[in-house]
Amino acid sequence: MAYNLSNLVLDHLKGLSPYSSARDEFSERAEIYLDANENPFSPYGRYPDPSHLELRKSLSALRKVSTENILIGNGSDELIDLLLRLVVRPGRDKVLYFTPTYGMYRVSAEIAGAKTLEMPLSVDFNLPLGPTLERILKDPDLKVVFLCSPNNPTGNTLPKEEVRQILSSTSALVVVDEAYADFAKESSLDLLETYENLVVLQTFSKAFGLAAARLGMAYASKELIAYLRRIKPPYNVSTFSQSLALERLKSYETVTEQIQKIIKERQRLEKALAKLPSVLHVYPSEANFLLVEFSESKEVFQYLLSRSIVVRDRSKEVPRALRITVGTPKENNQLLSALKKYN
Ligand code: PMP
Repeated sequence: MAYNLSNLVLDHLKGLSPYSSARDEFSERAEIYLDANENPFSPYGRYPDPSHLELRKSLSALRKVSTENILIGNGSDELIDLLLRLVVRPGRDKVLYFTPTYGMYRVSAEIAGAKTLEMPLSVDFNLPLGPTLERILKDPDLKVVFLCSPNNPTGNTLPKEEVRQILSSTSALVVVDEAYADFAKESSLDLLETYENLVVLQTFSKAFGLAAARLGMAYASKELIAYLRRIKPPYNVSTFSQSLALERLKSYETVTEQIQKIIKERQRLEKALAKLPSVLHVYPSEANFLLVEFSESKEVFQYLLSRSIVVRDRSKEVPRALRITVGTPKENNQLLSALKKYN
């Protein structure tokens, strides 16, 4: 069965007439706005632009993707949730992802009432390609496949050829979560023209340094973006967040400088960690964190905590592994000197 968006979107959402404020239509055409029950005495009294137009234009120029192919969410977490709510029939449809990975795919899929299919990544954290996966990808009840590249918590990217293979083997939506792609060598954005069922998620929370502002973006076919726009809450991104993001995009050189600094620190940290006696393995990473296998991860976790350093314990998913975010050079040095004193 070939991909068909109209078959995927839930029937009761197809005909949904979205909430629209009079402002959408008359925005910037009038001087006096008495349409939205706002407080006229406050400088913050106006509702934000529900279509995030300026921001989409700016992203469009940066990423070479048309504004109609972009939707902004309250963090990519909101976009994950909207995507699932658009297509999952509760109790019936399936959502596939590969573990270990970002925890919200499971949580949001369960909230949407999906049956979750978890397939473990291979020992080197690659996709478990083969007949079992092929069969699952052909299941007509499969509605969404999540691929995370670079993957959280493992840090590796998926080979683009394998992403293509998944895209062409299924009629489900394939969501490539690229929250960390700015730290990596490549992105799947250029596949958008070829694969209608592709959704690329990116975020302002990582490389752009705006986690506090809650901004994520989905890149997809204009038809899918139009459906998502209809089900999103009208004012999902605040005026302040939209302008912070616009500012960051205007000074994009600062963002690229910070990305370069973080990558350099990641490489330094990786080498230094690998030399420590308590470290068994540092997994290669194309993100802004490192997954590190320790001989005694629980003890190291507690020891770091006692030194006022918090890292993430991922040992339930990857034996003896802690995930360590790349910090400032000073923070990284403090981490390293604490670990040197361990034992
Ligand atoms: N995807 C991945 C892979 C993540 O690691 C995270 C955040 N840790 C998110 C999405 C959520 O990002 P946002 O802040 O844009 O909601």
